[in-house]
Amino acid sequence: MRREDLIAPQIYNIAEEVEKYAQGPRKVALIWEDKEGKHREVTYQELMKNANRTGNVFLKSGLKKGDIILVMVPRIVEAYEVYLAALKCGIVILPSSEMLRTKDLDYRVQAGDVKGVVSHYSCAGQFKNVRGIEALKKFVIGKPEPGWTFLDEAKETASDQLETAKTSKDDMAFLSYTSGTTGNPKGVVHSHGWGYSHLRTAAPNWLGIREDDRVWATAAPGWQKWVWSPFLSVLGSGAAGFVYNGRFDPEKYLSLLDEYKINVLCCTPTEYRLMAKVDDLSHYHLEHLRSAVSAGEPLNREVIEVFKKHFGIKIRDGYGQTENTLLIGISIDMDLRPGSMGKPFPGNQVEIINEDGEPCKPGEVGDIAVHKDTPALFKYYYKEPERTAQQYRGDYYITGDRARKDEDGYYWFEGRRDDIIISSGYTIGPFEVEDALVKHPYVKECAVVASPHEIRGNIVKAFVVLKEGISEDMPGLVKELQNHVKQLTAPYKYPRAIEFIKELPKTASGKIRRVELRRQELDRM
Ligand code: ATP
Ligand code: MG
Repeated sequence: MRREDLIAPQIYNIAEEVEKYAQGPRKVALIWEDKEGKHREVTYQELMKNANRTGNVFLKSGLKKGDIILVMVPRIVEAYEVYLAALKCGIVILPSSEMLRTKDLDYRVQAGDVKGVVSHYSCAGQFKNVRGIEALKKFVIGKPEPGWTFLDEAKETASDQLETAKTSKDDMAFLSYTSGTTGNPKGVVHSHGWGYSHLRTAAPNWLGIREDDRVWATAAPGWQKWVWSPFLSVLGSGAAGFVYNGRFDPEKYLSLLDEYKINVLCCTPTEYRLMAKVDDLSHYHLEHLRSAVSAGEPLNREVIEVFKKHFGIKIRDGYGQTENTLLIGISIDMDLRPGSMGKPFPGNQVEIINEDGEPCKPGEVGDIAVHKDTPALFKYYYKEPERTAQQYRGDYYITGDRARKDEDGYYWFEGRRDDIIISSGYTIGPFEVEDALVKHPYVKECAVVASPHEIRGNIVKAFVVLKEGISEDMPGLVKELQNHVKQLTAPYKYPRAIEFIKELPKTASGKIRRVELRRQELDRM
């Protein structure tokens, strides 16, 4: 894949990528199930007809090309309809997770110049105290709500024909907010052309989707990962997407993989980690699973080994950000090196650079950076030119993550810039230590941070969540965990302090917030 192959035609609308599969009446787009076992199947044709109806309701309300709407809909078929409808009309989507609360919504509505809101009825109450809500166009799904247009009803009488807006490849399609792992979420502007290059990078090379596949990408709408995988990559490949609208439960997930004969799976590292810790994996077969990928956080070796041993499947890592696309990963036909996140995907100009903006030598740790001409790089942070500029060093956008390359070009993740620990002059990435700790059978999850220390500057401190049934009072436990790490990493990296906790602080999307633990350590001083 060359860079040119990732550049969209000048007039381009990402919804076309899905609509082209809606020619015949039978091609299945979505297979949906909820926690009560309710089941639904939707063809591409039905999906597009409902998207067209929804789009007509939007246009009739006065919304127009270029307007921004906030969409807060859980894992239901209507989420796909609403996204396709808006894109087809050239309306920009601000994706919002159902977990957001009034203050988060208020922040997005004000900062994002939002003109309209689409909400599931279960979330509509969160908008009551959002400033300026009365002036917005409001659409509710699932149940009527006073003051809101009931989309289910309005769409019934709307036409199922809708012309696609003549969007340019550079027109804004999504205003996506980052996860807020390190601070306030940032509004990232992505164009229709971004979607073009994302689809051509992630779907064939990383997910390895074929048109007749059944794909389960577990991300929920509202996160950029939903746009990446279940939405664009699955429907843009003409495959059938499986959607489970229920809470995460490792045993349930493993059963569904068998029951629905899933071929391609995309999960978070936490989901994989908890599945790998299920006691008796021999109940599950995962016979149909051909491709399994992970993204969003570092993937631990332990998980890779367990899945390989029990199911003969290799879980492949992928790295990217809301600001770009899948930048680095193990592609479907590449050899895996457990612990490495892979190599840059062709067409994306990714490098590890030093403080002077020069590429680092193999073995040297530097910043993961993306050349400004990479088609899948975001345009800018919405209305924040200074913040955007700060993120550049010469021609490179700086991701804020640190890594090193080996002699063969494989990338090894060190950690987020802010999470790196400097202890007695040594630079230590938290990931390697965490990776070693979770290998221990007593450890369920852990996070490693810098803890201030009078002599050493900082020491490595691990917060550990123990597996059910393991008591933190077990004699010699701390020593055992420390020795375990010393055997797997350079001994100076071992956690000099270990604290047991019941739960790790996480973002709503489940990412570990080391920043909170770090702050807690500073406050203790
Ligand atoms: P914020 O920018 O608001 O603090 P965030 O960076 O977590 O939040 P996202 O854009 O959702 O928001 O996540 C991208 C980040 O997730 C990357 O910069 C990186 O730190 C981490 N990440 C993603 N994939 C991987 C991976 N495969 N291995 C290690 N880290 C990863
Ligand atoms: Mg970020």
